Amino acid sequence: MNYDVVIIGAGPGGIYSAYELIRLRPELRVAVFESGHALNRRHCPIDGEKIKSCIGCKSCSIMSGFGGAGAFSDGKYNITNDFGGTLYEYVGKKQALDLMRYVDEINVKHGGEETKLYSTAGTKFKKICMQNDLHLLNASVRHLGTDINYVVLENLYEELQNKVEFFFDTPVESVKNLEDGYEIQLKNHSVTCRECIISVGRSGSKWMEQVCRELKIPTNSNRVDIGVRVELPAEIFSHLTDELYESKIVYRTQKYGDRVRTFCMNPKGAVVNENTNGIVTVNGHSYEDPARQTENTNFALLVAKHFSEPFKDSNGYGESIARLSNMLGGGVIVQRFGDLIQGRRSTPNRIEESFTTPTLNATPGDLSLVLPKRILDGIIEMIYALDKIAPGTANDDTLLYGVEVKFYNMEVEVDDKLETRYPGLYIIGDGSGITHSLSHASASGVFVARNIAEKI
Ligand SMILES: Cc1cc2nc3c(=O)[nH]c(=O)nc-3n(C[C@H](O)[C@H](O)[C@H](O)COP(=O)(O)OP(=O)(O)OC[C@H]3O[C@@H](n4cnc5c(N)ncnc54)[C@H](O)[C@@H]3O)c2cc1C
Repeated sequence: MNYDVVIIGAGPGGIYSAYELIRLRPELRVAVFESGHALNRRHCPIDGEKIKSCIGCKSCSIMSGFGGAGAFSDGKYNITNDFGGTLYEYVGKKQALDLMRYVDEINVKHGGEETKLYSTAGTKFKKICMQNDLHLLNASVRHLGTDINYVVLENLYEELQNKVEFFFDTPVESVKNLEDGYEIQLKNHSVTCRECIISVGRSGSKWMEQVCRELKIPTNSNRVDIGVRVELPAEIFSHLTDELYESKIVYRTQKYGDRVRTFCMNPKGAVVNENTNGIVTVNGHSYEDPARQTENTNFALLVAKHFSEPFKDSNGYGESIARLSNMLGGGVIVQRFGDLIQGRRSTPNRIEESFTTPTLNATPGDLSLVLPKRILDGIIEMIYALDKIAPGTANDDTLLYGVEVKFYNMEVEVDDKLETRYPGLYIIGDGSGITHSLSHASASGVFVARNIAEKI
């Protein structure tokens, strides 16, 4: 065998697997194969001047490379079982929280010392939300910020680079089951290992499907979240963001009984493009450094769509809706809430005259031509509900960017050790469909590493 352990993907899941394996068993031969670039070579060409929107790079630096999809993210590590994944269903609630706290300690030790841990515990907002038919979920959140998140990754790489073999710009093509291990097929050659951890995240979702098909690992996919990113002056949400930083608020619509939730709140942040397998959607981030902050706060409003038999391609459904916005707007569409309610498109002029200045250069248009009525109705209802706890949310100049899609990777069948039916083959992080966040993905990495360190 060339290696004791091969890790596929250097996102948080892969990095924390490597970190914990080497901490517990420094003598192990561990290799990490990553299809994207090394951290210092990750660069999105959008500069707002020469290149204003996504040009579809072969390897998207936002989604791929050392640090994974999380590298330029806002670095919000939520310590909770209430959202961000269902790791607790496999490892138990207490262990899941302990693992997330352990990851937090590592982040703090590697550059996050000065960052703040916010908490919903004991806050008055829980009651205010309930009084307005809104539900604030429990969580502690460490906000690293895009800048410190990068520093933490740099420090982790620095520590690991001489103990683990990293191969960047090296996509794994397939994984073959051998009698006593695995053969990892690369472009021109292959390597072998005893144990293999697959942690390919969302950008590796199509590849993951292929691997599961080839190895006959059962999967299940029935959920996608679709919605918009809301952007408004930071003052409107400042009473919530100053105390909680991020508030995850859930609302059940009166019309259809659907659940709409706020997601990924970025106080004084910026709205950004995201390219997943060639489809441009919207996301957001913010900096810890006050000099890089904006005057706006942004967050997503997402409607969860669960499908029942016979439909199985929930991600395909989300992709089709995102494609529609790409077709009409050449990328992401932006619309003033007032225009949406008046049933007219936003034009460049109306956006120009808006009191809220967009932080993303998106195409002014009409989201009602893109989003299904049921989803759009839910979003409008939630905006009016939020207006009761944060007056001004339903102002005409509130900007809505679409579409934001939260693709859920198909759920892969693994046992309570996150091990597939093949002994020594683990599937973790967002690629497993079990986690959907930095903290849960990282925690799943620590968890499998501990099991492997004990077993080998
Ligand atoms: C803009 C943005 C902001 C976000 N903000 C937050 C946030 O604030 N808080 C939060 O909790 N979550 C956030 N997320 C989500 C978070 O980044 C993910 O949940 C997390 O990164 C998942 O970690 P992972 O290791 O499972 O996968 P990923 O981070 O996706 O890493 C997987 C890696 O595997 C590589 N890969 C894929 N296929 C192959 C292959 N065949 N061979 C080799 N390598 C491969 C990819 O290039 C990638 O680098 C954000 C996401 C984005 C895009």
